[in-house]
Amino acid sequence: MIKMLKNIIKFLIIGFFILISNEAAARSIQISNKLIETIEISDIEYVSACKITTILQGKIWQIEDKWIALVPADSSAQGAVPKKGWEIIFTVNSDTVIVNNRVVASPFPIQIMNNEVLVPVFILGEVFALPQPKVPIVESIVLSQIKDTTILSIKVDTTVLYETEVLSSLEYRIYLQALSEIKEVKPKGIVKHVVLGSKSGTLVALFFERPCDHRTIKTLDGLLVKCYARPQKKISTIVLDPGHGGIDPGAIGKKGLREKIPNLTVAFSLKRKLESIGLKVLLTRSDDRYVSLSDRVQFARLSNADLFVSIHCNAAVRDLSKRGLETYFLSEAKTDWERAVAARENAAIELEVNDTNPITNNDLSLILSDLAQSEFLLESQQLAATIQDAAVRAVRMPNRGVMQANFYVLRGNFMPAVLLECGYISNPAEEKLLAKRDYLEKIANGVFLGIKKYITEFEKKYGEK
Ligand SMILES: [Zn+2]
Repeated sequence: MIKMLKNIIKFLIIGFFILISNEAAARSIQISNKLIETIEISDIEYVSACKITTILQGKIWQIEDKWIALVPADSSAQGAVPKKGWEIIFTVNSDTVIVNNRVVASPFPIQIMNNEVLVPVFILGEVFALPQPKVPIVESIVLSQIKDTTILSIKVDTTVLYETEVLSSLEYRIYLQALSEIKEVKPKGIVKHVVLGSKSGTLVALFFERPCDHRTIKTLDGLLVKCYARPQKKISTIVLDPGHGGIDPGAIGKKGLREKIPNLTVAFSLKRKLESIGLKVLLTRSDDRYVSLSDRVQFARLSNADLFVSIHCNAAVRDLSKRGLETYFLSEAKTDWERAVAARENAAIELEVNDTNPITNNDLSLILSDLAQSEFLLESQQLAATIQDAAVRAVRMPNRGVMQANFYVLRGNFMPAVLLECGYISNPAEEKLLAKRDYLEKIANGVFLGIKKYITEFEKKYGEK
């Protein structure tokens, strides 16, 4: 974004098109139909004054730390240079340039490199008095609806440079290198809100009523953005993930209850309930076996599930009186407490010595999964809230709330995903409860009601109207 603004400023001030053919290629500017490569020195773009002078059919020479350029009146600068010619004095390391006895201030000093004077691209227009191009002006921004497609048309009085950014399936941004005085765009179709910004250039942010795909087409006088609602979504498959198992017992209570056991019991019971209302339910483990965290994530992804619910029990190291339920959704852990819980539940990664599927070690897939997950962040938060609410109600235990933490099993799942801590195995009274089948049944029932409520709300929002 910074780079984009930098470009716009340059574009507006000096009025050359900065030609960017691709990321790897050097940048260049165009003067009198000739391209000159620019040189970047500590993030500032410079260009050789000698090369420009030559293109403008002038002369340049050096006297001590000064470089003096004379550009003739009949140069190809299209009449911008006065009759008598143009005398420009560059002083090395100085932040001013003398142009026909007038001082032009430069935000960055003049540099010398390989016996060439380098001038910041920022001040070229003023120093060489090159003609200013027209700044594109946005004439109109209108939304219209043709059949199932909502179309945003942006009209500009000339061709326009732009960049786009997809923030989520619900938000799309277009940055135009053009100025606009338009204050408001009326929503239409799937676009429920349009936000306009006008800091150096024009920002058009589209907010969609529901997840949307779009195609942006450049036209001769602007842009067309076609927005299509994604196919109707339905929740039909749920992955339940009973935490720990096998050699990994999870948290262990004072009386010896191992977390992996109630986790599985709750999952079984919840599975039966969900299946009774026609949902397909898959378990990451259905017996007392060790399943690596990355295999759990992979399983959920390959199953093409619509929801992912990981089931755990919590433990407090010092405060044994701590009790109650909490539900987490993915994010960077926010408080020390959330961080501590995440660290404990993630510790199972250390058991994965022979892991053949180390998604964690691949930076790119992590970044990609982060992106994918962010689309479901809001939904995950809502799922966590409805599950937490219903589960607490079912067992009448303290409500420790919905929290955010960076759990491995929640990462990389391309669906709304939450992690439920059913209670504190470290609290002797709660350990007793968590060992009872009917208590776990109550928890499962609460979670079931929460998921059911979430599905009803979800389908109201995304389903057929
Ligand atoms: Zn656990």
